[in-house]
Amino acid sequence: MAQRTDLFPKGKIFSKAKRIDLIMNSSIVQLQNEKIKQQYRLALEQQGKKKKKEPPTLDRIVMGIKKELFSEDYFKGYEPGIGRVSASKLNTFKGCRFAYLLQYRLHLQPPIQFPHVVSGECMHSVLEEFNLGNLRTFEEMIHGRPIQVIKDGKLKQEKIKGWRAKWYGSAYSKNILFRKKGDEHFFYNRGVGILKNFYEKEKDTPKTRPDLIERKFSLVLNCKPYVNMSYNTIGFFDRIDIENDKIIITDYKTGDSGPVLTDLGHQLTIYWHAYNKYADLNMPHFPKPKSPKDIELVIYHLPTLEKKSTTRDEIVDMKYLAYEINDADNDIKAKNFKPFVGIHCNKNCWWQELCHEILMPNNKEIFNLLITSPAERAKIASYA
Ligand code: SF4
Repeated sequence: MAQRTDLFPKGKIFSKAKRIDLIMNSSIVQLQNEKIKQQYRLALEQQGKKKKKEPPTLDRIVMGIKKELFSEDYFKGYEPGIGRVSASKLNTFKGCRFAYLLQYRLHLQPPIQFPHVVSGECMHSVLEEFNLGNLRTFEEMIHGRPIQVIKDGKLKQEKIKGWRAKWYGSAYSKNILFRKKGDEHFFYNRGVGILKNFYEKEKDTPKTRPDLIERKFSLVLNCKPYVNMSYNTIGFFDRIDIENDKIIITDYKTGDSGPVLTDLGHQLTIYWHAYNKYADLNMPHFPKPKSPKDIELVIYHLPTLEKKSTTRDEIVDMKYLAYEINDADNDIKAKNFKPFVGIHCNKNCWWQELCHEILMPNNKEIFNLLITSPAERAKIASYA
């Protein structure tokens, strides 16, 4: 069994109970009242424990939509516009504004998930472990790798999960819409095939720095030259390689549609901007490119192992992104959440059943409100 020294925690790690004891006995916590002391201890014990939330009823969702459409100040401190911008948030808004309202304004959990989306997430997670050198062979990528770690001062056996455990773990615990019986095995086998081909192609590719894998970013995008606004952008770099003077930002795609660049316009522009910004801030491991053209954006389509490269332009692409975000931001502030009903609803939207229940009762109240202009809606509110 492998023993991973780099997975051993640095310094001594205490158990949660021990940490709470230390906090309670520290000089900072000087509580005389025994009752308050107990309450404080209970609060510490509850910290980090997730409470299972009951899904909201249809009536509550409808109430939330009406509040969103009519209320000026939904609740204090609530971000009135687009807020933090991710590529998927922007794409959801561009795809269907009502889906955006459900997901990003009401923060509802999608009632179902699609197998290709979940399997893509699991595959990304396996690739991350492979790129970090934690899963080293094809066998390990599928079946995982046992390791030893020190936790709470004790040596313990653990396992870095491979594709099999990650996929079946999700397939049997999440509410995934499988179209046919046995589809979970079809997706498992598809994943095995993709990872086998990927491993054969990439097994000898030098590893990049661990901090350039699945690197999260959150940065201000200055759109003032074009729309007099700044927005916060967030995202993940799947992988960055630095080869001589070239910066290569790779984004893995696992869908069936192939490495289509046009769909990813904004996603890649956000990556391009984020890298440049980090380089401008002299962030460690983000060397400044000699020219913006030295940043290569690569879509790596895993099912075909096809790669497509592109780059971005400071003026044209950034301006386009700034206008797109600003348009979405203005529409959200104007509460324009018109549904985009079409054949894509059946195929691609995880809200389809809930959406139908909300929009298509006999009186179609919500549907009519959504397709009414914000000015008309304001009149309705003043009569109410
Ligand atoms: S089912 Fe169609 S209209 Fe409804 S949220 Fe989804 S994409 Fe929009």
